[in-house]
Amino acid sequence: MRLAGKVALVTGAASGIGRAISRLFAQEGAAVVAADVKASEGEELIKEIERGGGRATFILADVSREDDVKGIIARAKESFGRLDIVVNNAGIGGPGYTWEQVIAVNLSGVYYGCLHALPLLREQGGGVIINISSIAGLTGARIPQVVGGYGHAYIAAKHGVIGLTRQFALDGAPEVRVNAICPGWVETPLTRLVWETPPLRDWVIQTTPLGRFARPEEIAKGALFLASDDSSFMTGAILVLDGGWTAY
Ligand code: NAP
Repeated sequence: MRLAGKVALVTGAASGIGRAISRLFAQEGAAVVAADVKASEGEELIKEIERGGGRATFILADVSREDDVKGIIARAKESFGRLDIVVNNAGIGGPGYTWEQVIAVNLSGVYYGCLHALPLLREQGGGVIINISSIAGLTGARIPQVVGGYGHAYIAAKHGVIGLTRQFALDGAPEVRVNAICPGWVETPLTRLVWETPPLRDWVIQTTPLGRFARPEEIAKGALFLASDDSSFMTGAILVLDGGWTAY
């Protein structure tokens, strides 16, 4: 119960990495405020957490809309009386998305989350923000057949998330710690095109020294470390969980 008594807001909580983080945080004692654009999957997550004895609530929200982000932060405090942890996780990627859409969700959404959570966390005397960047925040893309116009936006947004993490870490210190996670290839609906296409799947396995995709639960464990006091002297930092992909 490393998060007992804490309240955590997770965006993009209905699927993949956000869902795994929400489940793990609830198991560790946090009350979870789960936000997503997918209502039925979000409500199903809440039932699952409650069946396991945890506390959680779902809020339908689009992180690319600043008012929605302000709303979920306010609702988190109303629902559980306080807010301690904010995970800016919601993200999109893949063919079919425009530059504007990817920047709005993956970069502006993280900015709004940091901007509006920081004063509340500071007012309460402390807190933690975790931003989900990517290996695409550390290098250019090497994704054969997949990179189109959206790819440049994805790379720019994920690099931008690292910049926001460093700046908000300075803004939030010493009360609020702000860190980022850079996952490598994780098997989630976001990467379905890659893991369902044999040559792409093989390419990921070959270019990842650990020889496989990550499970969302492995990224959630990193988020738990950053959310808990185990990382009490860590801020403005990047936790790379990529199976060695950026070691080349
Ligand atoms: P996922 O399974 O698609 O989950 C993301 C969730 O966020 C989905 O439910 C998605 O809904 C939701 N979402 C999309 N736009 C939103 C918005 N504007 N407001 C609120 N929620 C929104 O993806 P994932 O792989 O878990 O990705 C989570 C984060 O990790 C993203 O930031 C992603 O860029 C990052 N990441 C993923 C990988 C990977 O290999 N999977 C690697 C590095 C970083 P829809 O399904 O309707 O879009």
